[in-house]
Amino acid sequence: MKVPAVLTAGNAADLHEAPAVQTAGVADFFADDPDFQRQVEQYRARVQAAGREGNARYQAVYRARHPGRILARRAVRLALAHGVLKLGPCAWIGKPGHVCAGDVEAHHSSYAEADWLNVQSLCRRAHLAADREQRKVQRKSKKAPALLPLLEWP
Ligand SMILES: [Zn+2]
Repeated sequence: MKVPAVLTAGNAADLHEAPAVQTAGVADFFADDPDFQRQVEQYRARVQAAGREGNARYQAVYRARHPGRILARRAVRLALAHGVLKLGPCAWIGKPGHVCAGDVEAHHSSYAEADWLNVQSLCRRAHLAADREQRKVQRKSKKAPALLPLLEWP
């Protein structure tokens, strides 16, 4: 599994000092997607405006909001390090239209504790596409709340 350089730098603050590095790998895959490019621009502007404290705050919010993700990824990291889990070749190899990017990552389709090590080996490109698909499905299945909490709105 290839670890992006920015994650081995060991300092979260590096993220906003080198936004180009952070998105370089992903940007390659979506170079012709204007929607993605726009999102990248907005993201960079937001990260730069927030600064180091903003980054720390964001990470704290992320950890609180997605405890399952943190634990699932930690479980995979440990299982890989201890040889309990081994990743195979990209599961999308052979899928029509898939141009495999090689190095595999562990893809979760569920962050429930029972599924922490229930992962699919996917290359970066397949992983990004799989996550996008998953988000699309989740957005569709989200039901509108029966009654909007109007009184709590500012
Ligand atoms: Zn692949």
